[in-house]
Amino acid sequence: MPAAQSTTRFQDVALEPIREKVLAGTRLTAEDGLALYRTHDLLGLGWLANHERERRHGDAAYFVWNTHVNHTNVCVATCDFCAFAAKPGEERGYTMALDEVFATVAALPKQVREVHVVGGLHPDLPWSYILDMMRGIKDRRPDIHIKAFTAVEIFFFHRLYRMPVERVLAELKEAGLDSMPGGGAEIFAKATRNRIIKGKADAEQWLDVMRTAHRLGISSNATMLYGHVESLEERVDHLLRLRELQDETGGFVTFIPLAFQPWEAPAMKRPATTGFDDLKALAVARLLLDNVPHVKSYWIMITPRLAQVGLSFGADDIDGTVTEEKIAHDAGASTPQVMTVDELVRLIREAGRRPVERDTVFNVVREW
Ligand code: SF4
Repeated sequence: MPAAQSTTRFQDVALEPIREKVLAGTRLTAEDGLALYRTHDLLGLGWLANHERERRHGDAAYFVWNTHVNHTNVCVATCDFCAFAAKPGEERGYTMALDEVFATVAALPKQVREVHVVGGLHPDLPWSYILDMMRGIKDRRPDIHIKAFTAVEIFFFHRLYRMPVERVLAELKEAGLDSMPGGGAEIFAKATRNRIIKGKADAEQWLDVMRTAHRLGISSNATMLYGHVESLEERVDHLLRLRELQDETGGFVTFIPLAFQPWEAPAMKRPATTGFDDLKALAVARLLLDNVPHVKSYWIMITPRLAQVGLSFGADDIDGTVTEEKIAHDAGASTPQVMTVDELVRLIREAGRRPVERDTVFNVVREW
């Protein structure tokens, strides 16, 4: 974005007072957040978000060499946007044998630094399966970072195995868990959450699990599912609740806006998000979440092409190679299942950014 625009008036005058705040480093309010979501001045919004992104990260754009393991799709919850889950007893349900998980991990190229493990809320898996999975992965690849189980899964384990959340997390950490992904947050607003989700942690429970995890030294990401039935006010509320917890714990590393994938979501007849909305989701997050270090442009959800553009709209991270992602793809995501590092590097370079390979917690592995 041209620097000259900092002195040029924005097309949308509602952005002018926000520019003053952004330049002065003043925290934005809920009203500011709403004005940002409502604007059609995408370039003005992009300029603001890009200013913030470059102030923090310069021209670096991060990626990680990673893979996903979705060990089971059996799930007792009902989320209207989900095409991945199978109810217990349903024919399309699967659960990976631990040997299968271990064989997958053992076969990974040595450059893979992160394994992202999430699954459904399976009511019959023993706690030993979960712990042995962590231990077995670490046995085979002691160098690999295990980012596993959303706050929703942790809350489910707490209920199912009748253990305090703190103990669930402590035992997982002992067995090898290094950090947690940010999924399951969906949208915090109660009425909307209850409308699209049955049988999993509510907003307070999700936030509480994260609070405990951060206290135990387990960092995590955070997400928001957007583009379904939520309002713009609810998006702002969601981001501000994350910001509030982050003020308290400092444990969120990256925020990832997740675009609703309508194609296979049986219970929700909604159109897909648009490019405008996807870029706004990144930009507004970068501006409101002033205490979260990174914002991710997740190519699985919004396509590699738009994720690349997102690197100029507030995002500094483009995720990674993500072999074997099932959840978004079951929902109909048309993106490829795998990205090579060469492709990621090309996307980043052509966006005028500097590709930086990172590990899960943003230590630099290699400048490309
Ligand atoms: S989103 Fe997660 S919790 Fe909800 S139905 Fe799908 S697998 Fe289960």
